[in-house]
Amino acid sequence: MDARHAILFDAVQIGPKVLPNRFYQVPHASGFGSGRPRAQAAFRGVKAEGGWGGVCVEYGPVSPDSDDLPAVAADIWDDRDARALGVAAEAIHAHGALAGMELYHGGATCPNGSSRAVRVAPSQLSSGVLWGGLAKEMDAADIARLQGAWVRAARRAADVGFDIVYVYGAHGYLMTQFLSAQANRRTDGYGGSLANRGRFWLETLAAVREEVGGECAVATRIAVHGDSGVPGADTLPGIHADEMLKLVAMADDLVDLWDVTVGSWPEDSGTSRYFPEGHERPWAHRVREATGKPVVAVGRYTSPDLMAEVIRSGAVDLIGSARQAIADPFLPRKVAEGRLEEIRECTGSNVCILREETFNQVGCVQNATAGEEYRRGWHPEFVPPAADPGRPVLIVGAGPAGMECAVVLGRRGFTAVHLVEAEPQIGGRLRWARRLPTLGDWGRIIDWRAVQLARLPGVEVVTGRRLAAAEVLDYGAELVVIATGSAWRGDGAQPGRPDPMPGADPGLPHVLTPEQVAAGKRPPGPRVVVYDTDGYYVAPGMAELLAAGGFEVTVVTTFPVLSPVSDQTLEGGMLRAHLHRAGVAVVPGTTITAIGAGTVTGHDRHGQPWSAACDGIVLVTQQASHDALYLELAGDQAALAAAGISGLYRIGDAAAPRMISEAIFDGHRLAREIDQKDPGQPAPYRRELAEFT
Ligand code: ADP
Repeated sequence: MDARHAILFDAVQIGPKVLPNRFYQVPHASGFGSGRPRAQAAFRGVKAEGGWGGVCVEYGPVSPDSDDLPAVAADIWDDRDARALGVAAEAIHAHGALAGMELYHGGATCPNGSSRAVRVAPSQLSSGVLWGGLAKEMDAADIARLQGAWVRAARRAADVGFDIVYVYGAHGYLMTQFLSAQANRRTDGYGGSLANRGRFWLETLAAVREEVGGECAVATRIAVHGDSGVPGADTLPGIHADEMLKLVAMADDLVDLWDVTVGSWPEDSGTSRYFPEGHERPWAHRVREATGKPVVAVGRYTSPDLMAEVIRSGAVDLIGSARQAIADPFLPRKVAEGRLEEIRECTGSNVCILREETFNQVGCVQNATAGEEYRRGWHPEFVPPAADPGRPVLIVGAGPAGMECAVVLGRRGFTAVHLVEAEPQIGGRLRWARRLPTLGDWGRIIDWRAVQLARLPGVEVVTGRRLAAAEVLDYGAELVVIATGSAWRGDGAQPGRPDPMPGADPGLPHVLTPEQVAAGKRPPGPRVVVYDTDGYYVAPGMAELLAAGGFEVTVVTTFPVLSPVSDQTLEGGMLRAHLHRAGVAVVPGTTITAIGAGTVTGHDRHGQPWSAACDGIVLVTQQASHDALYLELAGDQAALAAAGISGLYRIGDAAAPRMISEAIFDGHRLAREIDQKDPGQPAPYRRELAEFT
C-alpha cells in the first residue's frame, strides 16, 4: 500500500461498534429490498468482501403507511421482513464489515398506492412530486404510533444482526418535513421554533437509542441545504446550514454517526456533468466542526489520493460511497494492495439511478456484474476460467461491447483474443461522445478498459484495420464476435415514422448526423436546428457544441421536455438550465416531417402545421445497427465451416442500438457464457420465488 493511503485503513469507533476502516457504503437503493433477500445479500456481501468496512442496505420503511411501490424498498414492517434482511447482515459480517439498516419513513412523499394507507406528514402537505392528494396532518396518536414503529423496526434490525440503525432524516422525507419550517406549519409542540420542529426527530432518536443503543450504533442522515442553484432544489429542501448546525448540537448526544447529505437528490447525487468530485465537502466539514461524533459524507469520490486528503483535512471521518462502491466493490482492497490501476472509476453518469427510477434492479455502466451477483452468480473480480482457453477468438469492433468482451475473455484465460478496430483508437461511439461538453468523465469507460487490455497477455488489440467478411473468414479464428456498433441514421426515419424524411440526405451540406458534427462538419449558415427524437445525451451535446461554436441553436424535440431521460439520471433540471444559459432555444412537443431549402416543416403538439427557417439540421432521430458484416458471414454457413469458425455472435449495438450500459452488459455476458451450450442466448438466471420453493 502507498503510505499516503494508510489513513483510509484506520479503525473507527462508532458507538458500541468498531468499523474496520474508513470505507463506508452508505444506504442506497438496489431494487432488491426485502423481497429478494438473496440478491440483496449477494449484492451487499460482495462490497464487504471488497473491503468496505461499513455496508448498508437501502431505505427501510418502518410501517405500511410508508409504502413506496412500485419502487422497491427494504420494508421492515414485521419479523418476516427482518429475517429476509438479516441474510444481508450475515453476508456483510462474513467479510468482517459492519451492517447498516436505514430505517425510514417518507411522510408526504409516500405513494401508498399498494397499501392504500393515508399519507401522513407534520402538516397537510403536498409532496409536490406525486399525483393525487395531500397528506393527513399527524395527530398525537400518529406521532406515538410512528415513533413506536421506528423503535420496533430498530429492535427487529438489531435482532437479525444489524450493527448500525438509522433514523433517516434526509432527502425531503418525514424527518426533514418535520425539521423544515417550510413543510412544518404546526402550532403545537412539534412545530414553530427550531426546538419544536426538531422534537419528533430527537424523540425518535432517543427512543431508538434506548431500545438498541447498547447493541447498535445509532446513525442519522441529515440534509444540509446546499447552494447549487439546482432547479427545484428549494421545493424539497435540506435544512439551512445555520439551523442544521444547531440541530446537530441538540442531537449530538443521541447520535453515534452523522451521515451528511447535501440539498435535494439531484445535488446530493450530482453527476460528473455538473458537479466535481468531492462537491459536498464544505458542507460536511461544517457539520464535522459542530460535532464530536464521526461524520460520513459522499461526493462521488473515486480517487484514493483525494479520499485520504479529505480525511486528513478533517472534513469527514469516513468516505461515504454509493456509486463508486457499485462501480468497483473492490476499491478498498485494490487501494490496500496498491493495485490502483485496476480501480474501475465511476463515470458519474447515474445510470444506476436511471435504473432505479425506471423500477429496475441496480445496474452500472462500468460494472456489468452489479446486481447480477446472486441471480447470475457473477463476481466483479473473479471470472470462471475458460474451458478451452486455446480457441482463437476474433472480436470485430472495439466499442464498449467489444472492449468489455475482450477484457472478460482475457481474464478468463483465453490465450489468443484479437480485438480489431477500424479506427486508429478504440472506444467506438465514446471516442466522440467523451469529447462533447460536460461528458469527459464518461471517457473512463474507455480508459479503464484500455488499461486492462494492455495488461492481459492473451489479448491483442489491433487498430486501424477495417475487416471485411473475407478477412474475417481468413483470420484464423474459431470464435468470431461481431461488435461493429451502430450509427445515427441520416435519412430522418424516426420513432413512429419509419420511412425516410423528405429532404434528409446527409450528403447535402445542410443535413448533418451526430457523427458528422463530431468529425467537424458544420452547417453552412448560423441558424441550426437539432432535431431530437432520442431523448438522452446526444442532442443536448450537439446543441451545446454548436452553440459554443457560435451557431444559433434550436433543439426541436417530439418530447414534452428536452432530454426526458436526463430526468431519470437526476440531470434534467440542470441540463435544461445549462443549455438555456448557453443560449440554446428549445421547441418541445414538435415533429419535423420534411427538410427544405432553408426551412424545416412539421407539426406542433396540437397537430397544427409548424415550420422554422434554418441553415442546417442535425438529425438525432434513430440509430441503425452496423450489421452488414454479421449478416454476410451468417448468411454463408458453409464458408464459416470451411474457415473453421464454430461460433459467430453479435453483441452491443450491432445487434440492436441501446444505451452504452447495455452494450457493455452484452459483451460481458457473452464472454462469460461463450463456452456454454448456446452462447448466443443468455443462460437462464435464478429467480427468487420464495413462496414456491
Ligand atoms: P458498441 O456500443 O456496440 O460497442 P460502437 O458503435 O460504440 O458499438 O462501436 C463499434 C466499433 O466497431 C466502432 O469503433 C467501429 O469503428 C468499429 N467497427 C465497425 N465496423 C468494423 C469493421 N468492419 N472492422 C473493424 N472495426 C469495425
